[in-house]
Amino acid sequence: MNRLQGKRAIVTGAGQGIGRAAAELFAAEGAQVIAVDRNADALASLGGCTTEILDLTDPAAIAAFGERTGAVDVLFNCAGYVDAGDLLATQDGGYRLSFDLNVHAITHMLQAFVPAMIAQGGGSIVNMASVAGALIGVPNRYAYCASKGAVAGITRSVALDYVGKGIRCNAICPGTVQSPSLDERLAATGDAEAARAAFVARQPMGRLGRAEEVAALALYLASDESAYTTGQMHAIDGGWTMA
Ligand code: NAD
Repeated sequence: MNRLQGKRAIVTGAGQGIGRAAAELFAAEGAQVIAVDRNADALASLGGCTTEILDLTDPAAIAAFGERTGAVDVLFNCAGYVDAGDLLATQDGGYRLSFDLNVHAITHMLQAFVPAMIAQGGGSIVNMASVAGALIGVPNRYAYCASKGAVAGITRSVALDYVGKGIRCNAICPGTVQSPSLDERLAATGDAEAARAAFVARQPMGRLGRAEEVAALALYLASDESAYTTGQMHAIDGGWTMA
């Protein structure tokens, strides 16, 4: 009940999916949570958190958010976008959004919040990567793999540069997790049932992950229980990458 007692935590992409589950769990564990999303309606139904309506692709808005918020103990950069297609099918708009949201937004959030973390003597940063790109290649996910590979690099770089400042930085690498945006991606294939079956088939456990299961890993990494862990890619993938 109090694994984050006394801590201030930011969770991005907190409107739905893994981010929402993490914001709710962090708050239940005693954190003062600032839940960030661009979707005001989704944030409005989130209890127990302070909410911040913010477009994470706007660097100036992130900088202003950092200035008025001050120091936090936990920063969970969870918001992300999944672009479909191999290299030749990838459109410029999806490619750019993949980097604007999955990569550049994390950089801007880190630049906004790491200085205060250093000043207060430390903190825990958790970045949302994926098995895709950060651990293995996944078919038809060129921009997504490229961007999540960059998240792995960001995580290691920040972990290494600030390990002496009390800052830890880890990444989470989920397999396929049930979420609203996953349902949209399945529907977009034209045969959601077949697409779901194919996604389930690549998970050796024979099911998709649940947002609450990933939130539990985020909680561990956010809390002092993981005090001896930094710079790591934490897979949570139903056994997908074990072979
Ligand atoms: P989701 O995609 O359903 O929800 C994402 C949330 O981010 C939404 O609430 C959305 O409003 C918000 N968001 C999108 N663009 C934004 C912006 N510009 N500014 C602010 N907020 C914005 O959630 P999910 O499927 O749980 O995915 C969360 C993270 O986990 C993503 O980074 C995703 O890449 C990663 N991930 C998901 C899966 C999966 O199978 N669901 C697997 C591996 C990794």
